[in-house]
Amino acid sequence: MKKTIRDYDIKGKRVIIRCDFNVPIENGEIKDLTRIKKSLRTIRYARKNGAKVILLSHMGRVKTDEDKKYTLKCLVDPLSKMLRKKVKFIPLTRGEEVLNAVKQMKDRDVLLIENTRFEDLNGKKESSNDKELGKYWASLGDIFINDAFGTIHRSHASNAGIEKNLPSGIGFLVEKEIKCLDKLNNPKRPYTIVLGGSKISDKIGLVEKLTLKADYILIGGAMAFTFLKAAGFSIGSSLFEKDQLPFCTNLLNKYPDKIILPIDIITAKEIKDNVKTKERFLGEIREDEIGLDIGKKSLEVFKQYIDDSKTIFWNGPMGYFELDTFSNGTREICKMIAESKSYKVIGGGDTARAVNEMGFEKNMDHISTGGGAALTYIEGVSLKALKLIDEK
Ligand code: ADP
Ligand code: MG
Repeated sequence: MKKTIRDYDIKGKRVIIRCDFNVPIENGEIKDLTRIKKSLRTIRYARKNGAKVILLSHMGRVKTDEDKKYTLKCLVDPLSKMLRKKVKFIPLTRGEEVLNAVKQMKDRDVLLIENTRFEDLNGKKESSNDKELGKYWASLGDIFINDAFGTIHRSHASNAGIEKNLPSGIGFLVEKEIKCLDKLNNPKRPYTIVLGGSKISDKIGLVEKLTLKADYILIGGAMAFTFLKAAGFSIGSSLFEKDQLPFCTNLLNKYPDKIILPIDIITAKEIKDNVKTKERFLGEIREDEIGLDIGKKSLEVFKQYIDDSKTIFWNGPMGYFELDTFSNGTREICKMIAESKSYKVIGGGDTARAVNEMGFEKNMDHISTGGGAALTYIEGVSLKALKLIDEK
């Protein structure tokens, strides 16, 4: 068993909490507060027990100076309000100002430093788990608490790097994630996994391992098109991944009854709301058409599997759900899962957002804050930054 924040006497200690404040932002405005809200329990616990709380988080992918738009400054107001405590923000990831701010902290104070991924502008130091950086961040605190489930399958300086250098534990959010996801390792059957979304290469490798765990895998979203092309169907201009075609062909041959693909697709010539759409059966998609949602017949097929299941895990929207025109498949699947009597777990940032926006949050048993991390865990692979946490 991993140590948790409850296993430490944190009074008067500098406790570094690695949060997942990777919230969606548009023009500097936060579009969804879910991840912030889910981080509150651990922060409140630390304050209540007299710790000096130092918060670290990443936001977005930071590759060029333009990505400095992902400053964590936008978090200060909502966090201060939710905690009813003014959060001090230093817009730097290291240096004298950071050290001074830490030195001046009193018990129950909260300090937030800048986006850990700004260190990626400095030779990918965060994402490549630069040793010195991990050691440096560790030097700011006495105890490290990892509560960022979304990145726990990665070895970064702001998680694994600090864990190597400080006594460590997990926060309440990570603890709950692990508990709920563990149920999927010993599922009531039939166990159905619904996969979609667009991060094909990230996820396609997992599919084979998931086929070993689940009874059925229903595939929609952009991911379906690599499989459909591998099965010999025209997919027009839909998103797919050429490199993965042999893999998909092989998998379809190996598990013809487990991998369930859509049989009709909603297509359009451009990705725009209110464009003219077509309902196409397999084999009918034209060269200049893009597949952007699954069709009604596919939904009927998927429903049979969902209704029959005792355990369901869903990751990845069924279509380009951000546009109303292509949101029907995702909404219907969401509804079907919500109404099913199974143990149901949702994973993935966009999928969670779809569930929240469509109003089905309360119907689900667990909504994971991590897509890749949740998939990695249920696939049975050890989570790199969890492995390094101290054992009880
Ligand atoms: P999650 O964050 O839940 O893990 P992903 O990030 O993998 O999910 O995928 C979400 C994205 O996939 C959404 O932005 C959605 O618009 C996109 N998507 C789903 N289906 C398609 C499709 N057929 N073509 C293009 N994009 C799609
Ligand atoms: Mg996503």
